[in-house]
Amino acid sequence: MAVFEVAPGVGVALVSALPACEVRIMPTGPGLLTLVGEWHPDVIVLFRPGNELIQSVGAIAGAGQIVVSRDGSLGSLGLGDVELHGWLPAEATIQQVQLAVESGLRREREQQELRRHQEVLRRILALATIVGRLRSPEELPLLALEGFVDVMAGHGGTGAFAMQLGASAPVRYIGVGRLAAMTGHLDLPNEAAEAIARCFRGEADVLRTAGALVLGVRGSGECVGALYVEGVELPGSFDDLVAMFASLLGQSLSNAVLFQRSSHDALTGLYSRSFGLHRVAETLALAERHPAPTAVMVIDVDHFKRVNDTLGHAAGDAVLVALADLIRSSCRTSDVPSRLGGEEFLVVLPRTDEAAAALVAERLRRVVAAWRGSYEGVDLQMTISIGVAAAEPKELDTAQLVARADDALYVAKREGRNRVVRAG
Ligand code: GH3
Ligand code: MG
Ligand code: MG
Repeated sequence: MAVFEVAPGVGVALVSALPACEVRIMPTGPGLLTLVGEWHPDVIVLFRPGNELIQSVGAIAGAGQIVVSRDGSLGSLGLGDVELHGWLPAEATIQQVQLAVESGLRREREQQELRRHQEVLRRILALATIVGRLRSPEELPLLALEGFVDVMAGHGGTGAFAMQLGASAPVRYIGVGRLAAMTGHLDLPNEAAEAIARCFRGEADVLRTAGALVLGVRGSGECVGALYVEGVELPGSFDDLVAMFASLLGQSLSNAVLFQRSSHDALTGLYSRSFGLHRVAETLALAERHPAPTAVMVIDVDHFKRVNDTLGHAAGDAVLVALADLIRSSCRTSDVPSRLGGEEFLVVLPRTDEAAAALVAERLRRVVAAWRGSYEGVDLQMTISIGVAAAEPKELDTAQLVARADDALYVAKREGRNRVVRAG
């Protein structure tokens, strides 16, 4: 407790930059101010009528600082970035001082609250923008790299992610599946785990538990996860905002699943034909800006019909899956393998000329010829033929480049199969 003697008719200004706690100014007798409780405002300025200096009252232990100003100029006190809550006339009563101080502090609290809401809003919008760009659920953990998400466990659409949306509002996304393991890992209160389970069962979309908000995340009508927003001391309108975010997240996740389905071949997991061709076009366009050759390989299984005819379609499928794995593992990560259809595959090799691509193709051809597999007790093996072509920037378009590799493949077949032929 600090007691200051103030001459009757002295003006008081309260200046604060720190979060204000409870402050009461009470008259303890004529001309006395008593500051009770925690005292956070940085500065109190006391004036006589006409802004004359009052004697310095010095620092208050464990509290702010009392500064006495001669002319009331904040600049001269070096208070550039603190906020002034208001001035009182010199003839103000102690009650008026008290009211002014309280309303100043209230305003300060409101502004801090507003700034906090704005920060949460900014983070939600930033996160929403990133989530809106998701192309596959597996990319969710990548959000961690952007500093928004702390991946806590799991993988893909079944993981749990803690999204730090401001110190007072940690938001977690919990994907469907393995609920028990996930909620255990997240160390959630029982009540929260039960609320999440209810959202997962479709019994509720939004639930409030003690100190937390739980929202089901729906994508194309199905529940794909839940958002758990902890310790939110934010107004009701925040619920709407989180609900909008949950809906965006759900939609983005189901779009990402659809995109993944349409861009990948279901049997082999390689990219689909349309995506593969799209990547050729993209690579050619990029090569115009950063000049480099672009190579493609068209791969076809030799006498594949015989595999189907003698061992059955399922054995044929097993051969295709094995070949896809061999292609994937003999490519660089920058190369893009796709399935053109049937037993034909396409690989785009950015920044690679025809000779280098032919070396990759030859290595793949050997690996495939040496491969031995089995399907239901029957031994499997295969050979492949590969046509290789490359283009300098602006030389060929996608269709022309792939057609050149196709022509080379045709030559490889004609010359006896199990070989690599270059177009050039
Ligand atoms: P070549 O050496 O000249 O390429 O002979 P091939 O028998 O491989 O050539 P062809 O194009 O005549 O045969 C391809 C066969 O691939 C025909 C079709 O039955 C089979 N096929 C296409 N798609 C699939 C698939 O998804 N799974 C399986 N098992 N077979 C497929
Ligand atoms: Mg074929
Ligand atoms: Mg074939």
